[in-house]
Amino acid sequence: MIKRLTVLVLLTLGLVLALLLVQHIPSAAAYDLGTRTLQRGMKGDDVKELQIRVAGWAADSAQQTYVVVDGDFGPGTEAAVKRFQRAYGLTADGVVGSQTRQLLNSLEDSDGSTAHFAWSEFYGCQGKYGTDFSGGKVSSSAVKENVRRLMWKLEALRKKAGNSPVNINSGFRNTTCNTSVGGASNSMHLYGVAADIRVSGKTPYQVQALAKTCGFSGIGRYTTFVHVDSRMEYPYGSQFWWWPSTTQ
Ligand SMILES: [Zn+2]
Repeated sequence: MIKRLTVLVLLTLGLVLALLLVQHIPSAAAYDLGTRTLQRGMKGDDVKELQIRVAGWAADSAQQTYVVVDGDFGPGTEAAVKRFQRAYGLTADGVVGSQTRQLLNSLEDSDGSTAHFAWSEFYGCQGKYGTDFSGGKVSSSAVKENVRRLMWKLEALRKKAGNSPVNINSGFRNTTCNTSVGGASNSMHLYGVAADIRVSGKTPYQVQALAKTCGFSGIGRYTTFVHVDSRMEYPYGSQFWWWPSTTQ
């Protein structure tokens, strides 16, 4: 009897322990850069995450190109990693070892946003018409992921602007917000892939020039702000390059 009771107690304890362990296994979320050294020729979700994080380092000068987020570490990804490393004073070898990974991780907040941007800055009309990513043209989880990728590009732009704060005039717009500001019916803001930005101490011309090195395929220069988006990378009905014709 006692033996049977002991077995039962042990079994119960084992089950509780197993449940606790399962709960503590870190989730293999999309935001995980992993632990292996990443370099050219490798494939995987960790490479995909890397591509998201270095997407803002698409070019040295104005160029209609972007880092393809496909989980395949090719020459474009390598060049972007090198630019990132150079900008942050690391050895520009294009290999993501512990130092580069550490730096990339330090640029991510615990809630998955990036170091210098908050999710709330991208809510519909800055929270006036909603305090989440619902009500747009794709699911709120899709919008959130799109905004996350946008944030990483903006982190690069901010760095290139000499760490000048980047203000978000308008990020994601739900339909109510988009209507209220007179946005286009298929505005990229409705998907969370666009932002209207102001950069402290920089003119719209200067911001536009920086944006052209960050993998942005949609750029609109206005009197007081610059619109940036990644329309080429999404099947949202605007897969063409849209840049200001003036080069100044
Ligand atoms: Zn805009």
